Amino acid sequence: MTATPPPHLSPSSMGTFRQCPLKWKYNKIDKIPDPSGKEALMGNFVHDVLEELYGLPPEERSQAQAQSLAREVWDRGNWERRVKPLVPDAEEYRMFRWKAWWCIENLWKIENPEDIEPDGLEFELNGEVSGVRLKGFIDRFTMSEDGGVVISDYKTGKVPRKEYVDDRFLQLRIYGTLVDTLSIGRTTSLELLYLKDGVKFEVPFSEEVLINTSVYVRDVKDDIDKACATGDFPAQKSVLCGWCSYKGICPLWVN
Ligand code: SF4
Repeated sequence: MTATPPPHLSPSSMGTFRQCPLKWKYNKIDKIPDPSGKEALMGNFVHDVLEELYGLPPEERSQAQAQSLAREVWDRGNWERRVKPLVPDAEEYRMFRWKAWWCIENLWKIENPEDIEPDGLEFELNGEVSGVRLKGFIDRFTMSEDGGVVISDYKTGKVPRKEYVDDRFLQLRIYGTLVDTLSIGRTTSLELLYLKDGVKFEVPFSEEVLINTSVYVRDVKDDIDKACATGDFPAQKSVLCGWCSYKGICPLWVN
């Protein structure tokens, strides 16, 4: 059956389409909910705390302040009610909270939060790359003195193996390309902050990256349009099926 492509794409939905067109269809066309797993929930909680931490004046961004913010955000956001169904075991629940705090505390291994001057936090981007409408949020961006834009993304998952690090920058490259089309400034650098391990990866953003990413965006959009026009959304089995919410209805896994 044919389908109408969504009016805009996000870098993460493009990644989902590339990973498995059927998974993308279940979510974006059939609108079957894709509930967050405990890892995604932890990521959301840590992002909320860091957004509030970086919203404070620099001299107030201490670990003690982060700890009290974490407690406030936890209570205010009803995180217990959201997390408990996924980690009903008391020890697992305690570990969840402990690991979330561990990620926040490790921020100080990567950077001194007092030295960061964010110009945008959880900042919404909405624009066009290669004629493709894109929408999404970046965790943080800072402007350097020469007007360059540094885009940062917090990760709460494990540090990828060396050979996969470059792939992890794909979403940020799309955001960097989008930033360049808006009147924010020229993207100069991209950062991935792996909080769990206290590690930061940083890559420059060049003209070549911009051109290659623009081509990638157009290619994915063309493939999405083609799949919608033909109704052909092939299932693509991979190790990531283990984390897919649709495994229970996927023809590759259901007999
Ligand atoms: S289980 Fe795997 S193959 Fe099936 S929809 Fe999910 S990602 Fe695709």
